[in-house]
Amino acid sequence: MKKALITGITGQDGSYLAEFLLSKDYEVYGMRRRTSTPNFENVSHIQNEIHWLSGDMTDLASLIEAVRQSDPDEVYNLAAQSFVAASWPQPLATGQITALSVTNMLEAVRIAKPEARFYQASSSEMFGKVLETPQTETTPFYPRSPYGVAKVYGHWITVNYRESFDMFACSGILFNHESPRRGLEFVTRKVSDAVARIKLGLQQELRMGNLDSLRDWGFAGDYVKAMWLMLQQDRPDDYVISTGEMHSVRELLQIAFSHVGLNYEDYVVIDPQFVRPAEVDLLLGDCAKAKEKLGWRLEVGFEQLVRMMVDADLERVKRQAAVETSVVV
Ligand code: NDP
Ligand code: GDP
Repeated sequence: MKKALITGITGQDGSYLAEFLLSKDYEVYGMRRRTSTPNFENVSHIQNEIHWLSGDMTDLASLIEAVRQSDPDEVYNLAAQSFVAASWPQPLATGQITALSVTNMLEAVRIAKPEARFYQASSSEMFGKVLETPQTETTPFYPRSPYGVAKVYGHWITVNYRESFDMFACSGILFNHESPRRGLEFVTRKVSDAVARIKLGLQQELRMGNLDSLRDWGFAGDYVKAMWLMLQQDRPDDYVISTGEMHSVRELLQIAFSHVGLNYEDYVVIDPQFVRPAEVDLLLGDCAKAKEKLGWRLEVGFEQLVRMMVDADLERVKRQAAVETSVVV
C-alpha cells in the first residue's frame, strides 16, 4: 500500500486528491494547520479515512515531523494562500506561504525522505501578462500579482531541487480549475452561489469586477488525476494542465444565470472594489505534452462545470435556508 502526504488537504484540490488516492488504496496523510474553528467541510465525508497530522507551511520543524510521521512515497504540496486578490493587501504573508514555504517543504522532504516523489502546485498565474498564446511549458513567465510572483518562486525552486539534489520533483502548471468546493471568493463560485441565492429570493444583486477577462476553466476533479499521473512517470518533469478553451467572465454569468431562467444583466452591478490593481487579461493553456506523455484526458467541459456548480449551490443554499427557518421557528 502506497503512502501519500497532502498539504492543503482541507482545500478544494486537497479534498478531491484525497478521495482519488483513497480510491486507489493509498494510505492518505493529511497535514492541516491549527485553526480556532475547524474547517473540515470539504473532507467531512472522508475525515475518518485520513491520517491527520498537524503542521504549518511556515514552520519547517512541523513539516519535517509530518514527513517523518507519514514516511510518504509521494508528497503533494498544495497548501498556499491561493487567492490572487488577497495577495495585494497581504503580499508578505503570500510570499511566506506561497513562495518560501515551498522551500520549507522541499527541505523537509530532502532531510526526512529524499526518495519521496514531490508534486508542486504551480499556476497559470505565472504567465500573467502573457508573452504567447496558447501558453505551454516553455512560455516565459510574466506574473501580474504578488501571488503570481510567489508561484514563480515555487516553480523554480522545485526545478532547482530536482536539478541540484536529484529529487523526483514535478511542477504542475495548472490553469484555473473549479468545483462546488471552490472557495466562495473565486469568480466561478461567487457567481454560482449568487445565482442560487438570487433564484431563491435571498439576494437581490451581484457586485462584480472585470467581466472581460478570459480564463481557461476546468473541473478540479479532472485536474487532481493529472497530479497523480505526473508522479507515476519514469522521470520527473513539468506539465501544463488545461482545457485549451477560453471563456469570459461575462459568458460564465450568461450560462450560470440562464441555467435557472434568469438574465444576468438584470442583477449584475460593476463595483470598482472588485477590479484588480493589475489584471491577467487572458489565459489559454496548451496541454499537448500532458495528453501525450501522461495520457491525461479532460472529462467535464465548461458549461457542464458551471451548471454542476449552480445546481450544487442551489441544493446547499436550500438546505441552509431550511435549517435557519427551523431554528427561528
Ligand atoms: P485552496 O485555497 O482551496 O486550499 C489551500 C489550502 O492550503 C487549504 O487547505 C489551506 O488551509 C492550506 N493552507 C494555507 N496556508 C497554510 C499554511 N500556512 N499552513 C498549512 N496549510 C495552509 O486552494 P486550491 O485547492 O484551489 O489549490 C491548491 C493549490 O493549487 C494551491 O497551491 C493553489 O495556489 C494552486 N493552484 C490552484 C489553482 C486553481 O484554479 N484552484 C490553479 C493553479 C494552482 P485552510 O483550510 O486552513 O485555509
Ligand atoms: P484567478 O484567475 O486566480 O484570479 O481567479 P478568480 O476566480 O479570482 O478571478 C478570475 C477572473 O475573474 C479575474 O480576471 C478577475 O478579475 C475576474 N473577476 C471579475 N469580477 C470578479 C469578482 O467579483 N471576484 C473575483 N474573484 N474575480 C472577479
